[in-house]
Amino acid sequence: MSDQHLHTFPLRLTTSAQDTDPADQQIAELLGAAYEGCTSCQDGQLTLITTSASATARLVLLALELTVQRLGLVPSELTVDAVPGRAALPFRRLARTSPDPAQMLRTCEGLLPGPRRAAANTAIDIAVGFAAASPGR
Ligand SMILES: [Zn+2]
Repeated sequence: MSDQHLHTFPLRLTTSAQDTDPADQQIAELLGAAYEGCTSCQDGQLTLITTSASATARLVLLALELTVQRLGLVPSELTVDAVPGRAALPFRRLARTSPDPAQMLRTCEGLLPGPRRAAANTAIDIAVGFAAASPGR
């Protein structure tokens, strides 16, 4: 396993339903490592999380929740393939299905490892971007 760094992510990770998920701790460690620039921990956690369709879907969901908390909405560049932006297309596919968790999970289960990682990396970019813009909140 890892060399036991402790990374913390400064933003609260939650959904509007205030629910929790078994992957939440792993996701917090992944985002903390990304936020603090520890690529070895980030890579290790990313591999663990993207092995699981449900954990990957949860990561995307939490990134979308942060987006709504910060921007008040999910911009179309995160959901519509044709809108220019940096979000990976697999992230957009998952984001479109996010109102229906069962559908989102099925979509994530259907993603190959590469696209699943791409979706997760977009979620990381979004979350770290918000944290960098407002650290300690
Ligand atoms: Zn580390």
